Amino acid sequence: MSLLVHKYGGTSVGSPERIKAVAEKVKASVDAGNQVVVVVSAMSGETNRLIALAGEMSKRPEPRELDVLVSTGEQVSMALLCMALSELGQESRSYTGAQAGIRTDMSHNKARITDIDTEKVLADLNKGRVVVIAGFQGINADGDVTTLGRGGSDTSAVAMAAALEADECQIYTDVDGVYTTDPRVVPNARKLAKITFEEMLEMASLGSKVLQIRSVEFAGKYGVALRVLSSFADGDGTLITTDEENPLEQALISGIAFNRDEAQITVLGVPDTPGIAYQIVGPVADANIEVDMIVQNISGDQFTDFTFTVNRTDYERTFEIVSGKAKELGAVDVSGRTDIAKVSVVGVGMRSHAGIASVMFEALAKDAINILMISTSEIKISVVVDEKYLELAVRTLHEAFELSSPVEVV
Ligand code: ADP
Ligand code: ASP
Ligand code: MG
Repeated sequence: MSLLVHKYGGTSVGSPERIKAVAEKVKASVDAGNQVVVVVSAMSGETNRLIALAGEMSKRPEPRELDVLVSTGEQVSMALLCMALSELGQESRSYTGAQAGIRTDMSHNKARITDIDTEKVLADLNKGRVVVIAGFQGINADGDVTTLGRGGSDTSAVAMAAALEADECQIYTDVDGVYTTDPRVVPNARKLAKITFEEMLEMASLGSKVLQIRSVEFAGKYGVALRVLSSFADGDGTLITTDEENPLEQALISGIAFNRDEAQITVLGVPDTPGIAYQIVGPVADANIEVDMIVQNISGDQFTDFTFTVNRTDYERTFEIVSGKAKELGAVDVSGRTDIAKVSVVGVGMRSHAGIASVMFEALAKDAINILMISTSEIKISVVVDEKYLELAVRTLHEAFELSSPVEVV
């Protein structure tokens, strides 16, 4: 008998019919001899609706109250799924994050899971019940509900799988696996049978939101067997693995990730003295804002320009902080833009191959796409481009690295 954690995302539980279909899938898995814990997301669009409602009350809603509000979406799904399971003759119990023993740190809206008390869940499983848990939420040391950041149900599922030492964590979604890039942008993107944790982590952090970053981190750290597959169709999906010697996927590049949620800030003409980078980036980091790419270039003998990127939602706050600091430092000006995007090529194969960057830059040049910033690591190269060229850049690179499915001969 295997212990499986199934996770169903927003589209997969998006309507009463879909929830009934999920119940069938869960029941089939139980009938095949498995013990099943299900983690559910809110019905699609529900979390956005709740956030918009909060926005009607306040420009900056209290983080605690926002968590109380947005955590309700998942609770609707979990109860409805249990009702559907019951109709199929399958006994089940639904639990909130708190009831399921999911404890987190204190940071509202992007809490981290600290530990899970599995006693209750295990007791139910041993009674032959399916356990349905609200994703995206937990409880902090004060007994308050917390949420794990957008897409956080993936992390709830992986953490639950780790705590239960489940045989596999299966993320059921609206695509049938992880593709070489978002199949909604490149329709002939190829499904990967396997991808390494390292690559998946890089893809997720560079914008491929098919899995939340933390869920991949968690799975890698605790050795959770993780699979992405479709809730709409049968198939093996994509296995996230530690195995790099995979004969099926020996590509140099595994995929192209992209992110629109980018913004850029430039401090022009700051004195080129030691500590200047720290003085600009320090206050931004202190405000809990993540700085991504950084470029500093010499503009003259004593002055330098300093450019960096942040998440678009943090743009205004960052601009405010940096403007204040720039005045103090005697900078000439501060400028910024929010119409940029980041495109990245990812692959463990590039570690041992030179020339990836030149293929990438040549392809972009051919399409007259200007590169605004560049950053590299062992297994990725990222460029920032004008947002209006994003889709073209993704398609161009997908072609340049020959990532498409082989053309079918009819
Ligand atoms: P869920 O609601 O099930 O959590 P998400 O919308 O969070 O689903 O994630 C699935 C979506 O991720 C897909 O619909 C697809 O558009 C997008 N996506 C982005 N990059 C990729 C990729 N490389 N492979 C597959 N899907 C991707
Ligand atoms: N419902 C939450 C969101 O939309 C969490 C999730 O779906 O994973 O972000
Ligand atoms: Mg998701």
